[in-house]
Amino acid sequence: MERSTIVRVHEGLHARPATRFVKLAKGFESDVELVKDGKAVSAKSSVKLMLLAVKENQEVTVRANGADAIEAIEALIGYLENPRAGLDDEAEVQSPAHDAGQEVAPVPEPSPAALGRANGLRGVAASEGFAIGPAFAHFPPDIAGQGRMLQAEEITGEIDRFRAAVRAVQARMDHALAQDSLSAGDRGIVAALRDIAADDSLTGEAEGLIKGGNDAISAVITAASTIAADFSAVDDHYLNARADDVHAVGRQICLVLLGQDDVSLENIPEGAILIADDIGAWDLARAPLKRIGGVVCGHGGATSHIAIIARSHGIPAVLGLGAQVNALRTAREVALDGNGGHVIIDPDAATRADFAGRVEAAAKERAGLTVFKTVTPKLADGRIIEVAANIGSLEEIEAALEAGAMGVGLFRTELLFMRHMHLPSEDMQAETYAALAKAFAPYPVIVRTLDIGGDKPIAGIEFPDEENPFLGWRGIRMCLDRPDIFKRQLRALLRAAVHGNIKVMLPMVSDISEVTRTRALVEECAAELKAEGVPHATFDLGVMIETPAAVLIAPALAKEVDFFSIGTNDLTQYIMAADRLNPTVAKLNDVTNPAVMSAIEMTAKAGVAAGIMVGMCGEAAGRPDLIATFVKMGLTELSMSPASIQRAKKTIMAMASGD
Ligand code: PEP
Ligand code: MG
Repeated sequence: MERSTIVRVHEGLHARPATRFVKLAKGFESDVELVKDGKAVSAKSSVKLMLLAVKENQEVTVRANGADAIEAIEALIGYLENPRAGLDDEAEVQSPAHDAGQEVAPVPEPSPAALGRANGLRGVAASEGFAIGPAFAHFPPDIAGQGRMLQAEEITGEIDRFRAAVRAVQARMDHALAQDSLSAGDRGIVAALRDIAADDSLTGEAEGLIKGGNDAISAVITAASTIAADFSAVDDHYLNARADDVHAVGRQICLVLLGQDDVSLENIPEGAILIADDIGAWDLARAPLKRIGGVVCGHGGATSHIAIIARSHGIPAVLGLGAQVNALRTAREVALDGNGGHVIIDPDAATRADFAGRVEAAAKERAGLTVFKTVTPKLADGRIIEVAANIGSLEEIEAALEAGAMGVGLFRTELLFMRHMHLPSEDMQAETYAALAKAFAPYPVIVRTLDIGGDKPIAGIEFPDEENPFLGWRGIRMCLDRPDIFKRQLRALLRAAVHGNIKVMLPMVSDISEVTRTRALVEECAAELKAEGVPHATFDLGVMIETPAAVLIAPALAKEVDFFSIGTNDLTQYIMAADRLNPTVAKLNDVTNPAVMSAIEMTAKAGVAAGIMVGMCGEAAGRPDLIATFVKMGLTELSMSPASIQRAKKTIMAMASGD
C-alpha cells in the first residue's frame, strides 16, 4: 500500500525532522519505506532518510506493508505535509563540522605585538583578545582495527560486546544532554550525534561485518567510513558535514570497545591554549570553557560553531590555520592574538612579557568597564550616541545584552542562510527576526539583507564563476536579480516588524535605483501580506555606505533612505583598492588612511544635511582611538562586536566630559 505527497516539512527531512519521522515510523509494526525518484529506503533509519536528501516541495511516496499499514501511511503523510514537523520545541540541529566549512571574511586587524615575530602563524581572527598560556594539544590518535578474523564461536560474544558499547555511548550522550549547562545550540549537536549512534544504519552495517568475521573495532571503522562516504558523496553541504558526525560516533564506540577514555578536555589546565585540528561536537559539549585561555584550530572560520562559542564566552580564538596547526603539536607555550589572527609558538621572553602585559591589562580593563554596561552615552550637546552590537545569530543575543548593547546595529543574515540545507523559509526568517526584535525592544535591530557573494556560495543559490567576486554579483545586486529570495526576506522582515523596532539596511549599494527598486518590492510585499491578512508593519529602510559610488552619491541617496550605516570594512577595501583578505596589502587596507577618513566625513556630512541618522557598523566603529572623530563628524550610532561595547561607551563618556 502506498501514497504520494509533496513534502512541506520546513527544509525537508534534514537531521531532526528525519529523526522524528523515524520515531513516528517505528511506532508502527508495518515495514515502512520512503521512495524518492524511484529510490526506496527504510523509513525506520534516520541515516538512510537523510541520505535520501528529501527536500521541501519534492514529491515522495510512503509505502507500508503490514497490519497497521493504513494508519502508518496516514500518520507519516500527515507529518510530511506539516511545515513545522520536527521543528517545534528543539534547538536547530547544527554541527560544528557543518559550520566549519562556512567561513566568512576574517576581520584583518594586525596586531603590532604579533606582527614580525619569529615562530608566528597566521589564521582567521575568530574571537578577539590576547592570550598566552601552556599549550594543550588535543590531537586524538587514530584508532586502528585489530585486523583479526574471528572464529565462528567468537562471533556472538563480539556482537554482544559491540551492542554493549553502543548502549554505553548512547547513555553517555543522554547524560550529556541532561546537563543544564549545555546551551540550546550544543544540545542540538549532541542530540544529532545520539541519533546517529542509535541508528540501524551504522549499527546494522557494523553487525553485518562482525557476523562476517571482522572484529568489532574493524567493523565499526569500516561501517562508519562507508556511511560517511555516502554522506560525503551527496551534492549538499549540509549532508557532507554529517560524515564527520558519523566518524565521531564511530570513534566513541571504538573507544568503549578498547576500554579507553578519549583524550579528554576535562583536565585542561587553567588558562591553557587549546590546540586542535578540529574540535568535535562531543569534545565541545564537555569542555570546561571557563578554564580555556584561548583556542587555536586547523579547521573553522569566523562563523564556525567554535568561533561563535569562543566569542560568546570571551575566549580569544584563531582558527583556520590548516596544516600549519601541526607545527603547534609539540609547542610548550603559545601566545595568541585573536584580533589579528596571529599565533606565536614558544614565545621568547620579550613576546611573553608583551602578551602577559596585554592579557593582564585586558582583564583589568574588563573589570573596570562593567560599570558602563547600563550607561547611555550622552554628549555635552545632549546628543545620545547609540552603542549597538554586530551579531550574526540568535546565540549571540545574550552576550550582546550582557555587554549593554543598545540594540543591534548590524545583524548579518548570511549565517542564517549558510547554516541551512536550503534557503530559509519566510516563516523561519520571520521567527528569527521577531526573536531579535523582542530581545532588544525598545532599541532598534538593524537587519542587513542578504550580503552574499560569488566567493561564498550557499545552498539554493546558483552562483556564476567570477574573476572578481568582491566586484561581482554580491549583496543587493544578487537580491534584486532574485526577487524570489529577496521578497521572502522582505516579507519576513515586514512580519517581524510587528514585534519590535526592526530597521532594514541594504549592503553593497552603488546606485540609487537599487534603493528605489527595493522600496517598490517592499511595497509589493506589504500589499501581498495585507491581501493575505497577515499582520505586518513598516520599517525604516537604510543603506550601508561601503562603496566609493555610495559615498559620491550620498547627498542624493540620503533623500531616498531613512539612515546610513558606514561599513568601513568594505569601504576601506574599495576606496583603497586593497583586498581585505590579502595580507600582502594589509598596510593599505587601513581605515585611518586620509582617503577613507574623508569618505566617511563626506558621508556624515550628506546624512546630517538631510537630517537622517548616520551610523557605522564596520570594525572601525569600536576603535577607541577613532570614536571621538566619528562622533564629531556627526555619527550618532556605532555598532560593534559585543566585546567592544563597554569600552566604546567609556570613550564617549570621557569625550562628553572633556577628559
Ligand atoms: C563592512 O563592510 O564594514 C561591514 C560591516 O560588512 P561586512 O564586514 O559584513 O562585509
Ligand atoms: Mg560589508
